[in-house]
Amino acid sequence: MNVVVVGAGLGGLSAACHLVGRGHDVLVVERADRPGGRAGLLELASSTGGTYRFDTGPTVLTMPGLVDDCLHAAGVERSDVLTLRTVDPMYRACYADGSTLRVWHGREPMTAEVREVCGPAEAAAFGRFCDWLTDLYRLEMPNFIDRNFDSPLDLAHPLGPALRLVRQGGFRKLGKVVASYFADERLRRIFSFQAMYAGLAPYEALAVYCVITYMDSVAGVYAPEGGMHALPSALAAAAEKGGARFRYDATVERIVLEHGTEGRVRGVRLADGELIEADAVVANPDLPVAYRTLLGGLPMPRVARRGRYSPSCVVWHAGAKGELPPEAAHHNIHFGQEWDASFRAVLHDGVRMPDPSILVTVATVASREQAPPGGHTLYVLEPTPNLDGRVDWTRERHRVRDDLARRVAALGYPSEVEVEDFVDPSDWERRGMERGTPFALSHAFFQTGPFRPANVDRRAPGLVFVGSSTVPGVGVPMVLVSGRLAAERVDQLAR
Ligand SMILES: Cc1cc2nc3c(=O)[nH]c(=O)nc-3n(C[C@H](O)[C@H](O)[C@H](O)COP(=O)(O)OP(=O)(O)OC[C@H]3O[C@@H](n4cnc5c(N)ncnc54)[C@H](O)[C@@H]3O)c2cc1C
Repeated sequence: MNVVVVGAGLGGLSAACHLVGRGHDVLVVERADRPGGRAGLLELASSTGGTYRFDTGPTVLTMPGLVDDCLHAAGVERSDVLTLRTVDPMYRACYADGSTLRVWHGREPMTAEVREVCGPAEAAAFGRFCDWLTDLYRLEMPNFIDRNFDSPLDLAHPLGPALRLVRQGGFRKLGKVVASYFADERLRRIFSFQAMYAGLAPYEALAVYCVITYMDSVAGVYAPEGGMHALPSALAAAAEKGGARFRYDATVERIVLEHGTEGRVRGVRLADGELIEADAVVANPDLPVAYRTLLGGLPMPRVARRGRYSPSCVVWHAGAKGELPPEAAHHNIHFGQEWDASFRAVLHDGVRMPDPSILVTVATVASREQAPPGGHTLYVLEPTPNLDGRVDWTRERHRVRDDLARRVAALGYPSEVEVEDFVDPSDWERRGMERGTPFALSHAFFQTGPFRPANVDRRAPGLVFVGSSTVPGVGVPMVLVSGRLAAERVDQLAR
């Protein structure tokens, strides 16, 4: 089939790889001048010479096997286009009481760390927790994640996996399940904060989302050589090698349907008026935004209109001269004192965390070439409410930037800032993300699986969605899976 993929984000690129692998004729149309979307690249030149290179979105890469699935689908080996290295420790967790815990690759080193920091009982619990996480992952991935749903009834077809998920405690609260393994609050935090990746607090998320904890804490964190942006570049190169064509700097203005606001897909119209005909269109822009701006007239699914969106974040990118704290890792989480109250502030009260937990990613710990000599790149992320919250970002933007700069300097990171950039939720909205969050609809149960906006719309045969706002959901691994699911939908059209 003749397929146009709108958008070269990780979702669109995964779809392109899987589509060429299935013999389709694929054209990717991207409005930017390079692939990546949220997995973008920011290059800032300093006045003293040299350039700082920042990843603008994801920094924690997990499940590299899913990257391989995309590359192999396009007939490419990873070693031809991408070099991944393990990030070890995966995280350095720093707590408000001054203690530190590092999360290491591999069970043995991590068990030793837990034993040293938290004692032997917690180390034994860690082993049991890993076993449980591994079982959970093996159950969920084929049955509930890497799969298209046509109806909620599909959740119980076959019935066995659903029953096993109940028996494994998947429908208990994530925070409670993690607490049932660990008495030490520090372990409870490092193994449950991942609920935030699903847009939820540990006290409200279902334990099924511990699958995210499996993906990083057990399966491991990786980093592409040359920065995260090397990942979309590699996927684009693979898709191209597999036969896909790319048009950059080309904005799609309309997905053209046979009867105007509904009916079979006919192609896409570009901003300059050109019509590109297609049998199927795979749409990678944020789904609610696509319905509103590219499919004007076709009402979006209720859950996209009325659902609860994930919290957002601010990111302060700073290129700074100076020494790192000697213990600095690639990913450093600085937890605030508060826990439940912080989640409540962001998720339910729509205000900033009273005592924010922040992520400081220092890519130059391993990749010195990302900054000029003597410099480091600091990527400082604080979770915040999305635009449904009560923060006036035009007023707060500078205050939040200054808070982060002060905090990071006090923590011992380089403070001689040469270049910087600051992104707040209103920037995410300007970049086409619903409610100013880059993390889409949250993964509340009734916004997941068959309840999430579907990747097809019966009213517009030939239209397929891909990316974080459709199935299976948010984050690099899920979005890569969404590309395979989208390709499967295109195949169904051809039958
Ligand atoms: C700050 C931040 C930190 C994150 N951290 C992590 C992390 O550590 N680990 C992790 O796994 N995930 C992380 N994520 C989430 C992850 O990055 C996203 O889930 C994923 O990249 C989304 O990919 P996508 O393909 O759905 O969307 P996008 O990347 O947004 O792709 C959509 C593409 O469509 C293009 N487009 C839109 N409209 C048009 C149009 N009209 N015409 C042509 N092209 C168009 C856009 O330019 C874009 O390239 C993070 C995200 C952000 C922003």
